[in-house]
Amino acid sequence: MDTSLTFTPERGTELAENVKEVLAEIEAVKPSGSSPRLVAISKIKPPSDIQALYDAGHRHFGENYIQEMAEKAQILPGDICWHFVGALQSNKANLIASIPNVFVLETLASRKLADKLQSALAKADQSRVLNVYLQVNTSGEDAKSGLEPLTADSVASAELADLAIHIRDSCSQLKVTGLMTIGSWDASHAEGENPDFLRLCETRLNLARILGVEEGSLDLSMGMSADFAEAIRAGSCSVRVGTRIFGARPKKGAK
Ligand SMILES: *Cc1c(COP(=O)(O)O)cnc(C)c1O
Repeated sequence: MDTSLTFTPERGTELAENVKEVLAEIEAVKPSGSSPRLVAISKIKPPSDIQALYDAGHRHFGENYIQEMAEKAQILPGDICWHFVGALQSNKANLIASIPNVFVLETLASRKLADKLQSALAKADQSRVLNVYLQVNTSGEDAKSGLEPLTADSVASAELADLAIHIRDSCSQLKVTGLMTIGSWDASHAEGENPDFLRLCETRLNLARILGVEEGSLDLSMGMSADFAEAIRAGSCSVRVGTRIFGARPKKGAK
């Protein structure tokens, strides 16, 4: 990884303008009284791009590869709020626990990983609580990670509810603060309401009912470059936007 934090004025201006545009689009469609968060997904992009947006006042960034996030977190300012949005293998629990400024791990979907994270955190710092979102496979595609959505008929033994209860009762250093989904490519490129977003909303409603908590205590992380405006209209609290801010990504591995 190129570790330079120096960016050209042109690149700095371009990135800041892209963020400004996305924020304006969010502002134009958000429900009144809500303040959705923009997470700039900086995977594969150089640390200097992140530094440029940091200097322009942006703080929430998301990464997909844990090693890359750890390296970036080490050289970039400590008040960046990192979102981990990739698949995390349980043997990487110690690595994520070693990064102090992780704002949320967005992709938790197994009891095994929850338990590994709990013990990694207990070893690293017993006063630290790590926020997690549970990932939901709203589109039901085999290639997508995540737990099955909840419906009005779901009970506490449903896998997603069971994991949330397990974390509440047995993982004192993890806190479920929301739900995340990616959804299908087709749904995110179609006009009108996105059924995957509706399923995430329904899942939150039913998880809140089963846990006996306020629906508003759980964030919804949904919406990417192609569909963040629709996601905001559907009630998203946190959109994850990469390409619209940083431009197209090279394929990982292509050099
Ligand atoms: C890469 C990625 C994004 C950003 O996607 P864009 O289409 O580039 O905005 C959002 N969420 C997740 C989980 C990602 O991996």
